[in-house]
Amino acid sequence: EGAHVTSQALKLEDIFIAVKTTGRFHGTRLALLLETWISRTRAHTYIFTDMEDEDLRSEGHNMVVTSCQSDHSQQALSCKMSAEYDGFMASDKRWFCHVDDDNYVNPEALLSLLSAFPQDGDIYVGKPSLDKPITAHELLENNATYLSICLRNGGEFADKDEQFIAGCLEKINNHYESDDDGERCCSLLFRVTEKSAVSFCISYLLQREVRFWFATGGAGFCLSRRLAEKMAPWASGSRFEQTSATIRLPDDCTVGFIVEKRLGVSMVHCPLFHSHLENLLLIRHRSIPHQVTLSYGMFENKMNSIEVKGSFSKEDDPSSVPSAATKRQQPANKHPANEWK
Ligand code: UDP
Ligand code: MN
Repeated sequence: EGAHVTSQALKLEDIFIAVKTTGRFHGTRLALLLETWISRTRAHTYIFTDMEDEDLRSEGHNMVVTSCQSDHSQQALSCKMSAEYDGFMASDKRWFCHVDDDNYVNPEALLSLLSAFPQDGDIYVGKPSLDKPITAHELLENNATYLSICLRNGGEFADKDEQFIAGCLEKINNHYESDDDGERCCSLLFRVTEKSAVSFCISYLLQREVRFWFATGGAGFCLSRRLAEKMAPWASGSRFEQTSATIRLPDDCTVGFIVEKRLGVSMVHCPLFHSHLENLLLIRHRSIPHQVTLSYGMFENKMNSIEVKGSFSKEDDPSSVPSAATKRQQPANKHPANEWK
């Protein structure tokens, strides 16, 4: 697609909306979305799941049945996010947006949000799930080389002489800043001592602390095509899962890591995206039409949802049950987003 395409006004159909779901939620969560917002965005909404569903297909939905595992594991979820990214890249759409199957999307609000950005910019927009950047320990490449040097020189992973290690750390921080000085540093240390240097090398050279913002996947987020294209070396095909394994964090954190740490692009923090990890009762009724995404679900063992007065019963629309319901159903959420509390 050429420059003339991106200069045109953005249309709703230009937005690739990826919905992540799983077989056992087709009849419950997904069904609600199909009857509501997806009924208006079907042509450009893509359902990423792990189970074939003839009913969905016959209704003409864009369905991608991934071969990802159907569980809530980091790997399974990264596998689906990776499929979403690849699906977008193969499309002719101008924006990629991800949502979960417990998100409500307000198409008009989404369009006006994305229209306000430069259409040929590097944009990553969503809601941060923490009030500060997340800290990750990135496993460094070439760690096999470092490890073999360490083993050749020392052998044991002794954990003593903390003062010596602290001294080394200072030395390295001051003089050896780039990764490829790792080997030099290692041999320097081994000239001085042996065993304590081994544990130092292991912990210092094999991983590095990184801090970055990420948009919580449960609230939805979007990427401009230009940025998505730049992400390919760390996100396309099997590489997304590899990157996720490198930082040992979930799929949404991995997107933040690639954008902020690999590409040096800052996330745009936007309050219009909402997950059920925040108190949804705080959203004022009159502002609901302006919100890009909404959600419902359990938070701190309570049902967290938007109260909408209308003609739907609790059975017809479980996503807007009265907030007083306090059923104990799910175990505490393990998402890192919970750390902000
Ligand atoms: N999900 C999935 N496989 C699973 C469990 C969940 O693909 O085995 C999807 C689910 O459909 C949803 C997202 O992962 O889109 C988050 O799941 P959920 O809302 O249950 O958990 P949360 O992380 O919000 O607590
Ligand atoms: Mn959820």
